[in-house]
Amino acid sequence: MKLIIHGGFFSESSQSDETKFAKQKSLKNIAEKSFEFLKNHSASETVVFAVSLLEDDPLFNAGIGSQIQRDGKIRMSASLMDSATQKFSGVINIQNVKNPVLVAKALMNEDDRVLGDTGAKQYAEQHGFEDFSTEISQRRSEYEAKVKSEGKGTVGCVALDKDGRLAAATSTGGKGFELPGRISDSATVAGNFANSYCAVSCTGVGEDIVSNGTAVKIATRVTDGLSIQHAFQKTFIELKEIDGFAGAIAIDHLGNIHHQESHPTMVFASYDGNEFRIFD
Ligand code: ASP
Repeated sequence: MKLIIHGGFFSESSQSDETKFAKQKSLKNIAEKSFEFLKNHSASETVVFAVSLLEDDPLFNAGIGSQIQRDGKIRMSASLMDSATQKFSGVINIQNVKNPVLVAKALMNEDDRVLGDTGAKQYAEQHGFEDFSTEISQRRSEYEAKVKSEGKGTVGCVALDKDGRLAAATSTGGKGFELPGRISDSATVAGNFANSYCAVSCTGVGEDIVSNGTAVKIATRVTDGLSIQHAFQKTFIELKEIDGFAGAIAIDHLGNIHHQESHPTMVFASYDGNEFRIFD
């Protein structure tokens, strides 16, 4: 059993030590809780559990901590992919739900598994997800001043369960101040992908991640026999060619954990029951 989570990027120049410690503490706590959960649940259930906890933490750019877009609205995207079924599900630019990743999970059972905007919200309402707009604004006013100037990051988790299944989930509030209607990478196979060889979750500039095809490319390279390190190396060289900004976390079917980033430090934590690693 293995698990790694991320919470976007950390920049020494624009973020305080206080934020860094808070993120480290939160990631450690969520990685430990999620690892406990993984003992009795599948990889797919665990990545959703971990990402929902990350969405609930306003330190990160997902769920209640999501960035505001150019028209002042919050639109969130989240996705899930499971090696056991080889299925991908997701929501794109959904508004006013607490945990977009839970809506993505519900969509896993549907024929139409990626829904956008009002269709996604309508589906959420029909499936018992409460409207969360008031709560979002209440919590935002508490935290906004603190986190606004400190930068935040998309969240994700990949896990390998005791039966050898892999899964990945990713959730984002977007880049911040983007044009309404912009679609990020997080609910595409460029930003979130899992097959029976490798599971990957990305953060960074969605346009770069989509142009590079980061997650699906890394997983395909591992599937075709490259080591996880080489798959990352090659993919990040290609990302550099387009001056791309991204980070990714992954686990392969042998339990090798890897992460890499093009620019400053990615906020990550991994845990396998023995060794705990966290960004510094
Ligand atoms: N990938 C996200 C997006 O472009 C943002 C991030 O990872 O911070 O929407």
